[in-house]
Amino acid sequence: MQEETYRIGSWRVTRIPEITLEFAPAALIPAWDDGVLGAEAEPVIRPTRAARRDRLSVPVQSWLVQDSTCRILIDTGIGNGRQRAFPAFANLMTDYLERLVAAGAAPEEVDYVFCTHLHTDHVGWNTREEGGRWVPTFPRARYVWGRVEGTTARQARFEKGPAAGVFGDSIAPVITAGLVDEIDPGPFEPIDSVTFHATPGHSPGHLSISIRSGGEEAFFGGDVLHNQVQVLRPEWNSVFCETAELARTSRLWALSYAADRNVLFFGSHLGGSSVGRVRRSGEQFTWIHERGACEWHL
Ligand SMILES: [Zn+2]
Repeated sequence: MQEETYRIGSWRVTRIPEITLEFAPAALIPAWDDGVLGAEAEPVIRPTRAARRDRLSVPVQSWLVQDSTCRILIDTGIGNGRQRAFPAFANLMTDYLERLVAAGAAPEEVDYVFCTHLHTDHVGWNTREEGGRWVPTFPRARYVWGRVEGTTARQARFEKGPAAGVFGDSIAPVITAGLVDEIDPGPFEPIDSVTFHATPGHSPGHLSISIRSGGEEAFFGGDVLHNQVQVLRPEWNSVFCETAELARTSRLWALSYAADRNVLFFGSHLGGSSVGRVRRSGEQFTWIHERGACEWHL
C-alpha cells in the first residue's frame, strides 16, 4: 500500500484516508462566488476539484504522526457500522484500520488520539464494534480533546438528533474506559514539541495542533478550513461552521500563524493533497500546494 508521507524533523506524518465526498462549491461554502475570485484563484482551487469539474473533492481522513518512540493519531474519521442521519456517513464498511496498520500503527501501538473537535467525522474510529458493544479501538492510547468541546458534547448527548448517537457510540465508551484527558489550549506537557491552539467557531471548543521538530513545524488545522478558497477568502465559512463570526476570527488567526511561522498546514477536508503552505502578501493570503513523497508500506 502506498501513502503520501511528510517529514517534520524526526516526525513522519502519513495520511490515513477513510472516504472522499463531493460537494457543489456553494453547498459546502454558501458564499462561494466564482465572479469575485481573481485569476490567481484557479491554481489554488484546481487541485481540489473532483473528477466532475463542477464539484469539490472533500476527503474525510486522519493523520498519523510518528517517530521512533511515539505514535499519535489526529482525528478518527466516521467509523464503520454507524447509524447516522447523513447517508454518506451511515453504515460504512471501509478498510481504514488496515490502512492504519500499513502506515505503521497497529491499534494497540497508538499512544495518543488527538481529536481537534467532537463532530461525527472526527471521532468515529475512537471505537469499534465488538460483540454488539462499542469498545475503544486504541486500548493503550490516551484520548485527548478540548475541555470546552467535551462539556458541549456531554450537554448535546441529551438532545435528539445525530449528536446523541455520536456521544453514545464514539465518545462515552472511551470516557467510561478512563482513557480521556480533556485539556485547555497551550503546551501539551507529555510531549514538549506539541502545542494545542484555541480555534473555536466551527465548533465551540475546536483546537488546532502544532508539532515541531528540527526547526520545522506541522500545523493540523482540523476544520478551520474546508477548501483552500478560504485562504483567499477567509470570511467565507463552511455550511458546517457553528458560530460564524468566531469561525472567521479563528481562520484569520490560523492563516496568520501559518504564514508567519512557515508551517506545513494539514487540513481535515482539503482537496488535493490536503497539505500546503500559507503565504501572505499585504492583506491577502494564498496557498501553495505540497504533496508528500509516496512511501511504500507493507
Ligand atoms: Zn470535519
